Amino acid sequence: MSGLTLEAVSKQFGDLTAVDDVTLSVPHGTFVCLLGPSGCGKTTLLRMIAGLEDPSGGRLVLDNSDITAVPTHKRDFGMVFQSLALFPHLSVGENIAYALRIRGTPKADQAKRVEELLELVHLPGHADRPVSKLSGGQRQRVAIARALAVSPRLFLLDEPLSALDAKLREAMQVELRQLQQKLGITTIVVTHDQREAMTMADLVVVMGEGRIRQAAPPVEIYRKPADSFVADFIGSTNLLEIARDGSGGAIFAGKAIPGLALPSGLDRARLSIRPEDVQLTAPGNGSLTGRVTFLRDLGGTVETFIKVAGTTLTAVSTPRERPDVTAGDDIGVALPAEACVVLKE
Ligand code: ATP
Repeated sequence: MSGLTLEAVSKQFGDLTAVDDVTLSVPHGTFVCLLGPSGCGKTTLLRMIAGLEDPSGGRLVLDNSDITAVPTHKRDFGMVFQSLALFPHLSVGENIAYALRIRGTPKADQAKRVEELLELVHLPGHADRPVSKLSGGQRQRVAIARALAVSPRLFLLDEPLSALDAKLREAMQVELRQLQQKLGITTIVVTHDQREAMTMADLVVVMGEGRIRQAAPPVEIYRKPADSFVADFIGSTNLLEIARDGSGGAIFAGKAIPGLALPSGLDRARLSIRPEDVQLTAPGNGSLTGRVTFLRDLGGTVETFIKVAGTTLTAVSTPRERPDVTAGDDIGVALPAEACVVLKE
């Protein structure tokens, strides 16, 4: 297969298993985000792909050849790390041309390539500027251009946008995605920001404790999380304890959820439903009745916190969609079966 394949890759640091039996296929041209909480092994996995860390077990295969033992400098990968590591005493152009110069590329070709790359990252005409005089976002673009100078086979980035303020970061996420699509380059980005992953990725790989918990397109991860860990990590969700009734239906808080069944053999399970899918009605009209405990009016949307038989649910609605209630009022709550995901763990 053209692309990158990880086969049962693992990494031990002494007694600690940082990456545990990771198997993943990344087709050529895919944008992958490795996502997960701090310490879940994202960076270690990226460093093994980069050749900066030797796997303790498993194989890495790129375009049908085994690269597990190929040293970093022979892999032809472009890398951008959080620290950027630009050379502060060099100009923008000299930074970008660094790898080309080492390879002995003729000077005129270097200058041409630098201008091409500066166009690509929206910094035309900046070749002679000192790096030290650039803004954070501009430095980021120079680091990206430098990593792309030698047309890498894989583009690897570790938290590349984390030093930027929220607004610039969001703009750069879109830019990075557009750039990747234009070049069609297989790209792997480490992030702990789920919004960033949802914006950029074709394939989101959610990791927990060194293992892949789910690898799927962003919308599938959001709509069909594989387990409670993924459901809870991606966006916010309501996780409810449900049980099976005599005829296989699902019961929450003593009431059946219309249209929802529990798979046979499962007496208890958890249900994940996103706050925007919880429907609020006048009391008595919904399948459940709860009491409003708190309201958070954010202008465009309103979050309603409702206590139903000891469990607090959150509903997010637009101001026009919700009944006019305040804290202390009773409210009807419906959980549409098509928005409910039954989780085994
Ligand atoms: P973060 O988001 O905080 O960067 P991460 O998901 O990238 O976390 P890693 O940096 O891959 O996680 O670390 C995974 C685990 O391996 C952690 O428990 C970490 O302490 C450990 N670890 C990483 N590098 C080493 C090392 N060189 N020696 C020993 N332990 C390490």
